[in-house]
Formats: sequence, C-alpha cells, structure tokens
Amino acid sequence: MAELIQSYYGGAHRGGAKGTFEKRYPATGEVIANVELATTAMLDEAVAMAAAAQKDWARTSVQERGQILIRCAHALMGANEELSRLEVRDVGKVYAEAVSGDVPSGPDALEFFGAAIMTYTGTHHQWDGGMGYTRRVPLGVCAGIGAWNYPTQIALWKSAPALAMGNAFILKPSEMTPIVSNRIVEIMEEAGLPKGLMNVIQGDHTIGTAICEHPGIAKVSLTGGVATGKKIMAQSADSLKRVTLELGGKAPLILFEDCDLDKAAATAMEANFYTAGEVCSNATRVFVHRDIAGEILARMKAMTEEMTVGDPMSEDVQMGALISENHLKKVLGYVEKGVTEGAELITGGKRVHPQGFEGGYFMEPTIMSGCSDDMTIVREEIFGPVMSVLIFDSEEEAIERANATHFGLGAGLFTKDLSRAHRVADQLEAGNVWVNTYNLIPPDMPFGGAKQSGFGRESSLYAFESYSDIRATYIALDDD
Ligand code: NAD
Repeated sequence: MAELIQSYYGGAHRGGAKGTFEKRYPATGEVIANVELATTAMLDEAVAMAAAAQKDWARTSVQERGQILIRCAHALMGANEELSRLEVRDVGKVYAEAVSGDVPSGPDALEFFGAAIMTYTGTHHQWDGGMGYTRRVPLGVCAGIGAWNYPTQIALWKSAPALAMGNAFILKPSEMTPIVSNRIVEIMEEAGLPKGLMNVIQGDHTIGTAICEHPGIAKVSLTGGVATGKKIMAQSADSLKRVTLELGGKAPLILFEDCDLDKAAATAMEANFYTAGEVCSNATRVFVHRDIAGEILARMKAMTEEMTVGDPMSEDVQMGALISENHLKKVLGYVEKGVTEGAELITGGKRVHPQGFEGGYFMEPTIMSGCSDDMTIVREEIFGPVMSVLIFDSEEEAIERANATHFGLGAGLFTKDLSRAHRVADQLEAGNVWVNTYNLIPPDMPFGGAKQSGFGRESSLYAFESYSDIRATYIALDDD
C-alpha cells in the first residue's frame, strides 16, 4: 500500500496540505507514496517555528553546536543501510552505490562541519588607538531546494554548514524524491538536534516559489537545472534573499595519448553511467586523442556491454532505473537526435524491461562516437547514461573545445605527463577539475560551478560563507 508522506517541521509530521502528488518507484513504476503538497500557510508556520528555534541555537556555543551535529552525523552513519534503502525507493539507483557513497557522503559533511565550526575564526586588526575583529554571524532561517538525484547528500550538504553556523534550515526536497528527507530529520532529532532547526516542506515548484518569496527566509540554495536557477534568482530579488546555485553541467574529460588506457576507459564509464548518468558533474563529453581512440572505444564498448541493468537492490546489477517515464523518454529522444545529427551509436540506446521489473524506467548504457561540438547531444545536458565521444589532435584544441560551453561545473583529464596535467588543469574553466580520477569530492574540498553552472560552494570551509554574514567590530582603545 502507498504510504502517506507529509511535511515535517517543528519536530512533527504536519497535515493540512492542499492535495497530493503520486510518488512512483522508478524500478517498477508502481505508486509507493502519496505526498501531501504543503500550503503557504504551512510554510509560514514552519518559518515561524524555525525562527524561534534559531534564536537559542545561535546563542549556543560553537563547541556545543559542533558536538550535537557530530552526534547527529554518527546517528545517520548508524542508519546508513536504512537510509540507503529509502534513497533507492526515491531515486531507483543501485543500492550498492547508495550505501557505499551517495548516502554516507551526507553524514560525512555533517561530521566535517560540526568539527570545523569549533575552530572557525575571523580576522584580527590593529591600528593606532584601536583594534578590530571580524566574525561570521548566522543569517537566520535558510532554505535549500533540492534536485532528485542525491536526496540525502543534497539535504545534508546544504544544511550542515547552515546549522553549524547557527542558522535554522528549511529543506524542500524534489517532489520526485520525497521519501528519505523526513527520516533524516527524525534521526537528527533523536540524536539531540533541537526541534524546529531542521524542517522539511514537501511540494513542487509552487511551494518552491513561495520559499524564494518568503520575507522570513534569508537565503535560498538551489540544486537544480540552469533554467530553474534563473527563476530562483528572479523570484528571490524582491526580498533580496542571498542565493547560491548548484546547477547543471556538460563536463569534458580529456584522455591524452599517454594516459593509462584501462584506468581512463573505466573512469570515463563511471563518469557517465554512475547513478544511471543522473549526476550533474558527469563527464559526458569524452575527448579522446586520435592515437588512442580505437583502443579506448573498444575497451569501453566491451565493458559497457557487460553491465547488467535492472533491480536496484540486486548485487548483480550495475545500473538502476532513471527517475521517471518522462525523463527516460527525454533521454531516449536525445539518443535518437544524436543519430539523426550524424553520431554513431557504438552501443546501447534502447529501453529495457528487466524480468520482474517490466514497468520500470530502464535503458541501456549508451556510447555515441563520431560526435562534433555542434551536435545537440554534445551541447545540452542529457542527465542520463549517454556518453558522447569526441576526437582531438592537440592539447590546445582539446582545451579550447572543452571550454566551448556555457556550463562550468566539472572537468577532468588523464595523462602521465605531470607538467601537462598542471598546465591543462589550470586552463579548464570549471569549479572542479580532476586529474587521473573523476568525481571525487571529499568534505574539505569545495564543490560548485563556474559560468552558468552556478555560484557559491558546497563542502569545505568556503561553504560557511554561503550561510553567514561578516560582522566587523572596531574598538577604540584610547579615551580621547
Ligand atoms: P529542476 O531544476 O527541475 O528542480 C530542482 C528543484 O527546484 C526541485 O525541487 C523543484 O521542485 C524546484 N523548482 C523548480 N522550479 C522552481 C521554481 N520556479 N521556484 C522554486 N523551486 C523550483 O532540477 P531536477 O530535474 O530536479 O534536477 C536535475 C538538474 O539538477 C540537472 O540540471 C542537474 O545537473 C542539476 N543538479 C546539479 C547539482 C550540482 O550540485 N550542481 C547536483 C545535482 C543535480
């Protein structure tokens, strides 16, 4: 039977919503939950409760705040398997990925920010007859609006620095993935987080718009598409809300002729097929030097054809479902367009109906070669398991073509030449650049975009800047 999912704020599940949204399990297509869409009256109530809780929280010492958040992190780590099963229900990704990487990356951030806030300091200044110091102060009530690919990670990457800094937080998960967030907050409260500090408002863009316009919310952080990012900025203008944006990408991965072929081929595949390709920083434009193109393509084709698509909970499966029927159709449409525009379909490209999961939203991992920079599949974010392979001849050419996009989230390169590695990494226009690896984001490294992939950073001490103001205090030391 489908469960009922409500908003969760002020320490309790809340009714009073104005309608429901059907949540389907991507692996079967069955309705597994009915989600109540929060009203603006409920948002008002949540903001008032969050604002009340935030006053005490901001006065709590950083040592105590940090310790509470670390306890919450450890409680969430203890619930890793439970949360991973919920994340699979939400997203349809394979359990092995959820439990080993996607879900633990959330509590890892909470632990990092809990520890970091205890030693976070401002600056000190000294003048004739005076001294000064700066410190970071919380903004008040902050909000996060999430995409559907990493619901646990998005919930905690946004809320962890906000809470550590002394803010209260309101999370609006994507309407496509409403399941895991409420449980995250329950576990944090069981571990000692005061009620009202972490709140979940369920709903779609309508309540998302209300969040942006709400005068009681000081800041909104979005993870979503570029078009949504532009709307969020406009909607937040009237209340002069601070905005940070984690948006889409079309990252390049450059495989130079001297690279480790096995490692480069395996990494390129992971950078396209992990979470069924629904990863913002995925390297979907794989630039391969002409001298190794045949070798790399042969390796990737063979490995891709060995992948099993199907039941996300099965240990024998390497790729799960896409998020929805509509999204699957959109991704398959891109494959068709690629072929029409002249790309060669090396492998994949078709919908699949695994036994026992015939109603799920599955497709084969797909490699397209012979791609050119002006093709739709090379220019637009597909957000599915579709890799475009592009051939290049020189380093300068690869850099220029890699940068010829309005996106700038991730970029990567494979080479054994140390000088080339630094030279090229320095010229790639992206917030995150990986050398001889891809998509690794430890909590102490910043993550975020350049160009139209957004601004602001998650993870690392830089994230504190997104959830605080600077207060500069000048103290006169002479009595004249
Ligand atoms: P989306 O932009 O459609 O929706 C994102 C969120 O915004 C959802 O919660 C949605 O309800 C809300 N929303 C939509 N319109 C709104 C409005 N006008 N006002 C307020 N809220 C609104 O994105 P999606 O389809 O959920 O996710 C896929 C996109 O997210 C891709 O472009 C992907 O690259 C991006 N993404 C980026 C990152 C990153 O860290 N940079 C991470 C994951 C996903």
